[in-house]
Amino acid sequence: MTSRTDYCGQLRAEDADRQVTVCGWVGRRREHGEHLAFIDVRDHTGLVQCVVDEKLDLRNEYVVAVTGTVRARPEGTVNQDLPTGAIEIGECQVEVLSVAEPPPFPLHERTDVDENIRLRHRYVDLRRPRMQRNLRLRASVNSAIRTAMEEQGFVEIETPVLIASTPEGARDFVVPSRMHPGNFYALPQSPQLFKQLCMVGGVDRYYQLARCLRDEDLRADRQFEFVQLDAEASFVDEEDVFEFISHAVAAATEAATGERPTEFPRITWRDAMELYGSDKPDTRFAMELVELTELFAHTEFNAFKADSVKGIRVPGGAESTTRKRLDELTEQAKRWGAKGLAWFRVEAAGLNSPVAKFLSQDEVSGLVAATDAVEGDLLLVVADSWHTTCHVLGLMRLELGRPPVTEGGFHFLWVVEFPLFEALDQAGDPIPAHHPFTMPHEDDIGLLDGGDLLAVRSRSYDLVLNGWELGSGSVRIHRAETQQKVFAALGIDEAEAEAKFGFLLDAFRYGAPPHAGFAFGIDRLVALLAGEENIREVIAFPKTQSGADPLTNAPGPIDEGHLDELGLRVLPPPS
Ligand code: ASP
Repeated sequence: MTSRTDYCGQLRAEDADRQVTVCGWVGRRREHGEHLAFIDVRDHTGLVQCVVDEKLDLRNEYVVAVTGTVRARPEGTVNQDLPTGAIEIGECQVEVLSVAEPPPFPLHERTDVDENIRLRHRYVDLRRPRMQRNLRLRASVNSAIRTAMEEQGFVEIETPVLIASTPEGARDFVVPSRMHPGNFYALPQSPQLFKQLCMVGGVDRYYQLARCLRDEDLRADRQFEFVQLDAEASFVDEEDVFEFISHAVAAATEAATGERPTEFPRITWRDAMELYGSDKPDTRFAMELVELTELFAHTEFNAFKADSVKGIRVPGGAESTTRKRLDELTEQAKRWGAKGLAWFRVEAAGLNSPVAKFLSQDEVSGLVAATDAVEGDLLLVVADSWHTTCHVLGLMRLELGRPPVTEGGFHFLWVVEFPLFEALDQAGDPIPAHHPFTMPHEDDIGLLDGGDLLAVRSRSYDLVLNGWELGSGSVRIHRAETQQKVFAALGIDEAEAEAKFGFLLDAFRYGAPPHAGFAFGIDRLVALLAGEENIREVIAFPKTQSGADPLTNAPGPIDEGHLDELGLRVLPPPS
């Protein structure tokens, strides 16, 4: 094979008259006349037009080495939209290195191809410029993150993949043990316990681009396996963690976009819920929730007699939102859990709404004043429990105001002081909002002994980007008494704690430094930086939404012999 001298996408007018050899795949072919044909030859840098003998059998996706002379394209045939559009390679000798069957789908950028077909032939799909760009962007992000962490004294340590269960709250993937029949390893939902053990082991600052596995339903921003930047440091508090992690994501953003974000604002969980109705607010746009509970405290209107009343103002929404759309939004609000949705068009004559007649004059003017409404706006009001009001209006805000993924820049936000417990389960035990090693807020530790558990704040924090939760972390409990209190509050007795986390509790008896950490999802960060709505676009070999891999056909059955060796029997699927 003739050696490559240049990449296809890098040839320019300055290269005219050079004899070059490029290698790649044959893209589109056009007949030229005069016994000649044009073919595009493509590699990961782009494509270049080559003029070849029309008799050559060169079909789509054949792999070729093309040797010829670079020359300026004739007047009028320059393609301004193509980086190599000023030149072509003429007088080409073509060596066919591999023939190819017709590709299962056209590789042309603008065609929309069914995702299953793309994934089934991912090796062809990866040749598309968009995938090449995304994978390379991901590699630059990883490299920037590694450098940023190492600059701050973090050491990369690999933790095992066959482990005992981790307490992240999702379902484990398990692996049967051949040598210990009837026993199973769990795959790590995160390296949480190992990184804490590293702190006891004097590592001081640990990081890892760690693969985590959680058996949860898949979504646009979730895969069974994903990669996190996982970090932990000793003798630090949350301020230090914010600094380490902000530095890493700023470096990653700069590597991907050329611009370094400087703002990493903070908001408490409570304020995030009050203002945005979400613990992962998209702060690219305002449309904040307006508090109206006081205003309607003595209302005669039954639908507004509730623990919490809030509203949002949709600027200019009065005209643009049709009655049909308002009905749809009302149905939507009900599906999200609200009893209903009140809407008001702000008009010159006052508020136009089916429910306006139930409100007093003071309530009407109070509503307009509180929301800063002007003529032409639309006001949406929900009255319900605090959680439902926030939740429903938070989703409504996104529905009506959220910009497309590629617009509005990158708005990072630290959400701090999450509650320690999310809710109570059916048995009345609290469900931890984070894993159970999260330190409670110092002022609230007293509440763990019989106080209002749902009011206990924790020293945990999330990093949010444009409404996506990138990751979370916390200051950890490093003292046995506090850990026991949290376990007791969670309804985990000593025997259970010993069985599940005994090795960590043992380790803590041998000198545990105060420590804190964080982990954020690389897939999500890269997707947002690449302007993609779906993390599958930034993963080389992802699973489909149903968890299957159409390329390798995983998951698949295993043979009887293998099952026997593992001591397993497969039951018929439940009917
Ligand atoms: N292990 C946690 C997670 O994967 C992150 C952390 O607390 O460091 O969400």
